[in-house]
Amino acid sequence: MNVAQTVVSAREAATALPRPMAFVPTMGALHAGHLRLIEAARKDARSIVVSAFVNPLQFGAGEDLERYPRDVEGDLQKLIGADVDLAFIPSTHGMYGAEYSTFVDVGAIASTYEGAVRPTHFRGVATVVLKLLHIIAPDVVVLGQKDAQQTAVLRKMVRELDVPVRVAIVPTVREDDGLALSSRNAYLSRVQRAAASSLYRALCAMAASLREGVGAPQARQDAMRILQSPGEWDYLDVVDMENFLPLQSLQEPAFVIGAARFGDTRLIDNLMFPSPGVA
Ligand code: AMP
Repeated sequence: MNVAQTVVSAREAATALPRPMAFVPTMGALHAGHLRLIEAARKDARSIVVSAFVNPLQFGAGEDLERYPRDVEGDLQKLIGADVDLAFIPSTHGMYGAEYSTFVDVGAIASTYEGAVRPTHFRGVATVVLKLLHIIAPDVVVLGQKDAQQTAVLRKMVRELDVPVRVAIVPTVREDDGLALSSRNAYLSRVQRAAASSLYRALCAMAASLREGVGAPQARQDAMRILQSPGEWDYLDVVDMENFLPLQSLQEPAFVIGAARFGDTRLIDNLMFPSPGVA
């Protein structure tokens, strides 16, 4: 596996790879969810590039940028094991230099739900992903359904800025009790971890009610009771898959989305209707 640490060497190495080439952007601390994205990428690509970069632009003041888990050595071993062709592990300075000031603003879709709680988050995500797409120039970029609003933001960015890449969405990988795999699960105490899977159960209950024809307000109210202490809701809703506006009932394509806090740790999860095929 080739490892590039600079923009120039990543671009050079990516250019030499066989096509079609798939790209999986990550923040590192790789887990089985990330590896599933790589596996899915392999299906219709002849080469695979993975980036691991904890992107400061997508963290707000007071968020977990400093304590976000980092494990470059472990990541490289996993990427070698997954037969990845190129790992791009840039430095913050290499990506943004000294006085960075150019941002991608995708508009209203970035200001609700995750964007309401984290006002500069999607601007940071869109900016780094557009930069990475320019550097790597893949044929397909592979994203996890786990970050539902992120998939909507990035699909809109790709469409509206005419980025010549296909966006593939891969279903969420879960623990046995339903908790979605996330690098942030490592922050949970035993008690919080035991309660955390109730977020998934609440999403399932909300989806089941919606499918029975119950309206969104009632379905939400019933499902919210399922969250176990010490979990506290940020939001639970059903939204249009494209624009992330709330729906009054389940009209596909849609996401049932939820976010809850367990102590200092925020977890997000969703169910997608119709459910995504593997990329
Ligand atoms: P992250 O490193 O958290 O920025 O995630 C990198 C990519 O992996 C994103 O496209 C995520 O949506 C995806 N991802 C994270 N967790 C999971 C999971 N449990 N299942 C599938 N994909 C995931």
